Amino acid sequence: MTQPKEHIIDIKNLSTNRKEKVPCGSKELVERARQQNKSEIIDQYKKDYPVGPHDQPQSMCPAFGSLRVGLRMNRVATILSGSACCVYGLTFTSHFYGARRSVGYVPFNSETLVTGKLFEDIKESVEKTANPEKLDAIVVINLCVPTASGVPLQLLPKVINGVRIIGIDVPGFGVPTHAEAKDILASAMLKFSKTEIANGPVEKSLQQRKSLPLVTLVGEVFPLDPMSISSMLEPLDLEVGAIVPTRQWRELYTAFEGTVVAGLHPFYTSTFREFESVGKPILSSAPVGYEGTASWLERLGNTLNISEKKVNKAKDLVLPLIKQSLQEKKLNGNVTLSGYEGSELLVARLLIESGLAVKYVGTACPRTNQSKLDEEWLKQKGVSVEFRASLESDLQAIEEYDPDLVIGTTPVVQHAKEKAIPSLYFTNLISARPLMGNLGIGSVLEVIGDAINNGKRFKKMKKFFSGVGDGESSGVWHPFGEKNAKFKELISEKKLATNKVTKEQVKC
Ligand code: SF4
Repeated sequence: MTQPKEHIIDIKNLSTNRKEKVPCGSKELVERARQQNKSEIIDQYKKDYPVGPHDQPQSMCPAFGSLRVGLRMNRVATILSGSACCVYGLTFTSHFYGARRSVGYVPFNSETLVTGKLFEDIKESVEKTANPEKLDAIVVINLCVPTASGVPLQLLPKVINGVRIIGIDVPGFGVPTHAEAKDILASAMLKFSKTEIANGPVEKSLQQRKSLPLVTLVGEVFPLDPMSISSMLEPLDLEVGAIVPTRQWRELYTAFEGTVVAGLHPFYTSTFREFESVGKPILSSAPVGYEGTASWLERLGNTLNISEKKVNKAKDLVLPLIKQSLQEKKLNGNVTLSGYEGSELLVARLLIESGLAVKYVGTACPRTNQSKLDEEWLKQKGVSVEFRASLESDLQAIEEYDPDLVIGTTPVVQHAKEKAIPSLYFTNLISARPLMGNLGIGSVLEVIGDAINNGKRFKKMKKFFSGVGDGESSGVWHPFGEKNAKFKELISEKKLATNKVTKEQVKC
């Protein structure tokens, strides 16, 4: 789901009496937020989530990441505070992804925003919602406008009737991707639970485990991936602990029991900081493909001082299977790949090991300490890796490398389809599949192989439909094959009205 590039929010009477429209992410909104006591959080976000060539989100509303993390948790309610249009989009998307639960919303108008009544309304709604029979925690998310106008969620009570209250600011200015918004909520919860651990005994996890040393996983991975990792840990006498973002509040305590934290997804900057603050080592990258899995097991062994013999045993159990699967699924062709999920570099590694020539990897996420290993590996293979990649650079890569397959976001896939290049949507078709260990090889490579094989069919279709539904020949109101004379006129008028062309350009 992507939103138009010039995503405009309406900030009526924010601090003045004017009605104005400011693109989200604009310097003006940031300034307003600073004037409203949000400087500290904005500076922190600036450090954690440095912006790239573009300072506005180019993908879906970033707050979706936090919303999703909250909605996936049991016994946690989520309340949004923001413009109705933003909340509509966010709830629509959450239900599209199968949230199957209500999202709370506290509406506002110019008056409640300016007088501070909105904060009182949020407080009232939190108090009404805080039912300890049903809930462990309530998450309140400030979207762009309430953040810019300084709605002070930090002043909400920390606990009501035993229900924890987590208030976070997730504005489009300051949080460039929905991936990083996941980090904001995950780390806020970890911080809260860390204080609870420090203050006394906490509830035990409900999950059955073998009492072996735990490995905490960080990353919203496909459900089969922790199972793959679990089988790799068995010969090392380790087991999978909590998976952050967690599904239950108690699992947050378990997360701190991990002897090591596996940063499967590299963009959880603030989350890693919480673990580092209590001395937990972070293991970069993930057991993906042959070399990725070998290196992950070796580094895990080194971090925990596990004997080489044991590590070799773990490697011997999984690596030959991976090698065999990769040989069986051998693929051929050139690929460009981009996305905003944060797992793009890992997927690219797997594709290269399967025989594909990956020319370009663009990720909307920033370069972090945890992505260095994968970046180096890819660069050694001659891949152009771009962090905070813009839509423009993803499209440019298609022009430059003339790929056989494009994996990307909606507008990238649309561009590729118009050029009759087989293309796959990263979020729904690639990142929603297992990726780790031997189980990760079959499904992803199968869908990619099928897509590449469709190349000839695409070219045939393009030839067959050539000129139909394109430019002056588009529309269903005129006989087939006849150009719609009015079309050019209409478009020219529109372009003139929006100053996109001059009169001279229209004439030609
Ligand atoms: S809250 Fe999200 S949708 Fe609304 S203006 Fe901000 S970035 Fe855009």
